[in-house]
Amino acid sequence: MNQKVLLVEDEEDISNLLEIYLKDQGYAVDTFHNGQDALERIKTTEYDLAILDVMLPGINGFELCKKIREQYFYPIIMLTAKIEDIDKITGLTIGADDYITKPFNPLEVVARVKTQLRRYKRYNEQAGSVKDVEEYDIRGLKINKSTHRCSLFEEPIELTPIEFSILWYLSENQGKVISAEELFEKVWGEKYIENNNTVMAHIARLREKLKEPVKKPRFIKTVWGVGYKIE
Ligand code: CA
Repeated sequence: MNQKVLLVEDEEDISNLLEIYLKDQGYAVDTFHNGQDALERIKTTEYDLAILDVMLPGINGFELCKKIREQYFYPIIMLTAKIEDIDKITGLTIGADDYITKPFNPLEVVARVKTQLRRYKRYNEQAGSVKDVEEYDIRGLKINKSTHRCSLFEEPIELTPIEFSILWYLSENQGKVISAEELFEKVWGEKYIENNNTVMAHIARLREKLKEPVKKPRFIKTVWGVGYKIE
């Protein structure tokens, strides 16, 4: 079955172009040119991935992203023309997984879509495996794979799918030091490239959300020169 992509972009030149490239790769694409129409569809249809433009007439991409996250866990890629928006997206307070700045090469978008879908599939396969543990409780930090929920001393913590996957992998390997390379390959499902700061950036955000003391993190420890671990 074709994987279904939700595309919300009011500039028709861009949405037409993306649609062509995505369909060419075998994806089924539902395109909307405003937030309101997309919102109606989001409520009733589960997609495999969403591409949301930030600046939309009516309801903007940030709001759509939050609405999707209230219900679903599939990957969300944001499109933005404004540098200021990137902070908001990378702060990941809205729950997006990736962003692409305009102008972009449609092939780049297709590549990011593939990466996100691969990561999501891998994650779901792990989640569906029977023998696996469903929940970890590490000194008050609870992480549940079937509900995708995380809480710290019963306070819910909103994690993006990537952050969740990182935390889950470290919890599964509690006590073991995991290299950035291994984390990257497990979570993103891609070959690691030297001097890649992606893992570090996501760990930093994760620690912020866990309100970790900067000098002495309680949960995710850095083992210098080797990697990360949860004790
Ligand atoms: Ca726009």
